[in-house]
Amino acid sequence: MMKEAKEAPEKKSVWEKYDKKDLEKLEKISKKYIKFLSDCKTERECTLEVVRQAEEAGYRNLDEIIETGGALKAGDKVYAVCMKKAVALFCIGKRPLEEGMNILGAHIDSPRLDIKQNPLYEDSDMAYLDTHYYGGIKKYQWVTLPLAIHGVVVKKDGTACTVCVGEKKDDPVFCVSDILIHLAGEQMEKKAGKAVDGEALDVLIGSIPLKDKEKDAVKKGVLEILKKEYGMEEDDFISAELEVVPAGAARELGFDRSMILSYGQDDRVCAYTSLDAMLEVGEPEKTSCCLLVDKEEIGSVGATGMQSHFFENTVAEIMDRAGEYNELKLRRCLRNSRMLSSDVNAGFDPLYASAFEKKNASYCGRGVVFSKFTGSRGKSGSNDANAEYLAALRKIMDDNKVNYQTAELGKVDVGGGGTIAYILSLYGMEVIDCGVAVLSMHAPWEVTSKADVYEAQKCYVAFLKDA
Ligand code: MN
Ligand code: MN
Repeated sequence: MMKEAKEAPEKKSVWEKYDKKDLEKLEKISKKYIKFLSDCKTERECTLEVVRQAEEAGYRNLDEIIETGGALKAGDKVYAVCMKKAVALFCIGKRPLEEGMNILGAHIDSPRLDIKQNPLYEDSDMAYLDTHYYGGIKKYQWVTLPLAIHGVVVKKDGTACTVCVGEKKDDPVFCVSDILIHLAGEQMEKKAGKAVDGEALDVLIGSIPLKDKEKDAVKKGVLEILKKEYGMEEDDFISAELEVVPAGAARELGFDRSMILSYGQDDRVCAYTSLDAMLEVGEPEKTSCCLLVDKEEIGSVGATGMQSHFFENTVAEIMDRAGEYNELKLRRCLRNSRMLSSDVNAGFDPLYASAFEKKNASYCGRGVVFSKFTGSRGKSGSNDANAEYLAALRKIMDDNKVNYQTAELGKVDVGGGGTIAYILSLYGMEVIDCGVAVLSMHAPWEVTSKADVYEAQKCYVAFLKDA
């Protein structure tokens, strides 16, 4: 009989290692991170906040530099935005761009319910918005929770109206109902994946009928409110992007307040720590880049996803402004770059231990996680980082006293997943997955350890500073 393998012996909770100074820094970044999570629940909100923080730190809009024919030199800081949903920050290094960049790449989209283009209906004196879920969710987790609606409505004349309902203390919230347990016999017999139908994820939004209206009076009542609050007509849903997300702020978790409970930590935990690291790094030897993209949860597709040419085009523009552009130099810059694909890993969950292989799992509170490869089954769809790159990173981490662990995503036959790593690796650059362990990933409320948030930020700073 095979003995149950022990977990990797030398890796212990990093909390024991912290002195007062560490704990102060840890609390400082946790606080900022919790605020970011609470304020930014969509890719648009993240992009706006990232630009705000970048400008405060002296970053300038690349488009304006291009328009005015400005030049870029070592120490200059610029950002570029793609359709309000993705953003790239660059801090120009002392060395030529051709020699490559140090890139941190995370995603700022998270699983949610998107409101359809023709969503509003009334049934049995209740008004609903029909939704289409985005990303991988367990549908049964999204019922009976307080929900908020975030997004934008763009009218035909081009004017846009920002929507955010369900977050302020006095705001109403929304929810998706579920069948009561007393009548759930049929539902409880179903497999969990089928227990709640995708078309049953409709959000309850009102119940007062408009006076003197015979037909669809409740729907008309809601429309009257929408008209008053947002100046919108029913047709305006066609050109709206409204995202239904769990309502409420991120919170400290546990009696010891060691963890964070929040919506959207995949992948805002890495996006935020990458941004924070980027803003901390002064004038680097090599150009630093922090890339925050959209659409990772549905395959990195579209103009704002990692597969788009936004990043490559932006690098070309930057090389041009730095007086270094030609096609060959651009290729070399990309090939000579190194990247941390900063994305989350599945934290080991003792309640579901059988999904993990203990020696090669990530643990909440044991530091930032490096994953040599992701993918499924026989590593299908994986970016498999080179041993040489891992060796170099081990040295950077040890030299900078960053606590790290290594992990796969669950047991080999159980499942798997991917990140944006494989897309950047197409340029021939070194790429590895590197992020934070998360419990209940993709659930409305996900768990991280403050210690891992702190270690991730330290890791990203050390990486960006390395020449
Ligand atoms: Mn992710
Ligand atoms: Mn994800």
